[in-house]
Amino acid sequence: MRLLLVEDDAMIGEAVLQVLRAEHYAVDWVRDGVMADGALKSEQYDLVLLDLGLPKRDGLDVLRALRARRAHVPVLIATARDAVGDRIAGLDAGADDYVVKPFDIDELLARIRALLRRSAGRGEPVFSHKGVSLNPATREATVQGQPALLSAREWAVLEALIARPGAVLSRAQLEEKLFSWKDDVSSNAVEVYVHGLRKKLGNDFIQTVRGLGYVVPRE
Ligand code: CA
Repeated sequence: MRLLLVEDDAMIGEAVLQVLRAEHYAVDWVRDGVMADGALKSEQYDLVLLDLGLPKRDGLDVLRALRARRAHVPVLIATARDAVGDRIAGLDAGADDYVVKPFDIDELLARIRALLRRSAGRGEPVFSHKGVSLNPATREATVQGQPALLSAREWAVLEALIARPGAVLSRAQLEEKLFSWKDDVSSNAVEVYVHGLRKKLGNDFIQTVRGLGYVVPRE
């Protein structure tokens, strides 16, 4: 899952970035409203964590512009504890949820998981398909009931595919889920992770669709 973090406070930004990366999200961090707007126009994110008080361009303004482009990406706004008016304005401008600063990190992570679930049209918190299950809250994967140890990037590839059985994702689409700007992308990275996953899940769970990409078949 790829997230955009919009936060001008260096200390808060750095702390949240560390936590999100530790949870295996690919994260891009921008520190003002103009950069946020640019990133949202050029990249595909699974979720945006948006501070409202930003230099150069207000967070609310960035949010309104995003929704005016009919973008559906889930947006979680961050506001000060006493700023009820900001929360209302943010929700009415198209935010999906809010967190109050200072964050309780566990609550922030749970709200992110809930939004990602909702935006994927899922109610159940655990991905489960043909004997393989992934629990994003505990980061536990099992295969036929047995624990499977997946690397962060194997997890990210599998999560993207198992979220939509039957949907073919291209290598480029999977790379977008895997890498933030700061990461080096080697040209065969996705193949390497798929290869690793096949060893752990069995050869048939992820199938190659020649010339198109990868799929977890529905049946
Ligand atoms: Ca701020």
